[in-house]
Amino acid sequence: MNIIMLGPPGAGKGTQAKFISGKFSLPHISTGDMLRDEMERKTDLGKKVEEIINAGKLVKDDLMVAIIKKRLSQPDTKSGFILDGFPRTVSQARSLDEILKSMGKRIEFVLYVEVSEDVIVKRLSSRRICPKCGRVYNIISNPPHDDNLCDVCHASLIIRRDDKPETVRNRYRVYLDLTLPVIEYYRKRNVLFTIDGTLPVEKVKDMVLNILGGAK
Ligand code: AMP
Repeated sequence: MNIIMLGPPGAGKGTQAKFISGKFSLPHISTGDMLRDEMERKTDLGKKVEEIINAGKLVKDDLMVAIIKKRLSQPDTKSGFILDGFPRTVSQARSLDEILKSMGKRIEFVLYVEVSEDVIVKRLSSRRICPKCGRVYNIISNPPHDDNLCDVCHASLIIRRDDKPETVRNRYRVYLDLTLPVIEYYRKRNVLFTIDGTLPVEKVKDMVLNILGGAK
């Protein structure tokens, strides 16, 4: 199954992608996680994208396409994958089509998790991340057991630099300008499924399973 998760930052794409990944044993390919990993390891790529990411802007299409092309050529994507955070522009979507075509593959499901801007700003400002294992918490709806410590590795949780309210608004504007057209791109191909991302996580999971046709 070749799946794309679409939706604004903070819609819960990552949470659902992780769930699908576990359920169907498919690799979860998050371009944001890949770039943050490069930043943490202070690689050339990481240094190149740091400023762009922290400002809530988008990394250049050709760079992102090269990254995803390399990732999709790895053997673990043979029976499918979940893309989370890519494509973010129509140009990226077109390039993805070409890459997949050359591999004899195509996108089968585009899950669009829909959430309004106000909900997103609220959600992201209460989002906390474990710097060690990447587990995601929300201090209001999904807090850790111990104040500000990861339940699994007990590291102090951090706020992503691009989750500051002013950067979140910037990311949302970028999303409206560049990523909403991607939703229309897939709608025309009849592979788009819209999910209400304001529903409780478990309910969203059920809807995802209904669409993908699996039993929980
Ligand atoms: P995310 O974790 O998906 O919200 O991504 C964090 C940041 O990484 C974004 O705000 C962008 O700066 C960058 N990024 C991730 N994926 C892409 C992409 N497909 N195209 C351009 N920039 C991206």
